[in-house]
This record gives sequence, C-alpha cells and structure tokens, in this order.
Amino acid sequence: MEKRPVVFIDRDGTINKEAGYINHPDNFEVYPFVSHAVRLLNVNDILAVVVTNQAGIARGYYPIGTMHLLHEKMESILNENGAKIDALYYCPHHPSSKIKEYALDCNCRKPKTGMIDKALQELPIDEKNMYVVGDKLSDMEFGWNAGCKTIMVMTGYGKGELVKLKNYEKKPDFICENLLDAVLFVLEDLKK
Ligand SMILES: [Mg+2]
Ligand SMILES: [Zn+2]
Repeated sequence: MEKRPVVFIDRDGTINKEAGYINHPDNFEVYPFVSHAVRLLNVNDILAVVVTNQAGIARGYYPIGTMHLLHEKMESILNENGAKIDALYYCPHHPSSKIKEYALDCNCRKPKTGMIDKALQELPIDEKNMYVVGDKLSDMEFGWNAGCKTIMVMTGYGKGELVKLKNYEKKPDFICENLLDAVLFVLEDLKK
C-alpha cells in the first residue's frame, strides 16, 4: 500500500472543547471547524489519526464505555459532514490508578510514543511526513519524541501553554489558532 502522510490529532482542547474529565456525551462539544479540517485531510490522502490520553479512566472518573460513547458522538458528527477519522488510539492508564488493569507506567501515555509506534505498525504511514497537532506542550514533546513536525493550537489549554513555551529551548514548527489552520499549514508544508 502506498505510504501516506499522517496528522496525529490530540482530542481534548483540539477537537472538542476542553471540559476537564468529560464523563457524558452531553459535555462533549466538537468544535465547528473540525469536520472541515478532517475532510481536507481525507481528500488530500493524508491519514487523520486521533491520539488521546484518557487517564480519567485510570482515575475512576468515568468508565471506558463512556469514552467510547464520546468517540461515537465525534465520529457521527464527522461522518454527517463527510469527514472520517482513519484511526483512533487512546491511553487509559496511569501509574497511580487504583484499578489494577489501568495501573501501569505504560508506553502509550503522551509524551511517550507508544500510540505512534502502534500506528506505524498498523497504518501505511510515510514516516518522513508525520505531524502532531495539540494544545499542550506534552503534545509537542510527544511529537518531538517520535520525530514529527509539531503544531500548537490556541484552543483548549493552548494560550496558557504558550506562556510556558517561553522557557523552552525547542519550539513548535507552527503555532496557530485552531485545527483548521493547522491542517492548512500541513497542506502547504507538504508542497515544499
Ligand atoms: Mg489536549
Ligand atoms: Zn497507556
């Protein structure tokens, strides 16, 4: 299969409004520009892959079934608008979890690269053209750790995280308003 560029997209604060530990689909609000952004990736043969830390599961704030309900809601909103996520990876773990199966110092919790490692095994990814989009510095570190270009958005925690970035040696490749701007950057960058 032909290898394709990929955009790894953070969920909370990037796809949906940041609302703490979201424990019900009614509190899960997808930003209005997301369908357009993902559809642009789809029509340009770029893989759209969601990567999300869901330590709320490990902390017992909501069961894993609730997370699946949120993802069903996300996918149905996207599908209604002609957009599709190619794959979704989540990390339900946290070392301090009281729930045995999630009490793990795992490899998949961002900024560790486990979710990208798995995607590389499962999807036809062109490793030279990998991007990470997120609202937190940990998303940027996740991207740097895996050799991706990084894009920071100003939705979610973005504006506050930007202040912390001042003390960082490394900088994201692009800082922008939201996921749609990030995708437009990717499309331009791939023409180079
Ligand atoms: Mg986020
Ligand atoms: Zn994990």
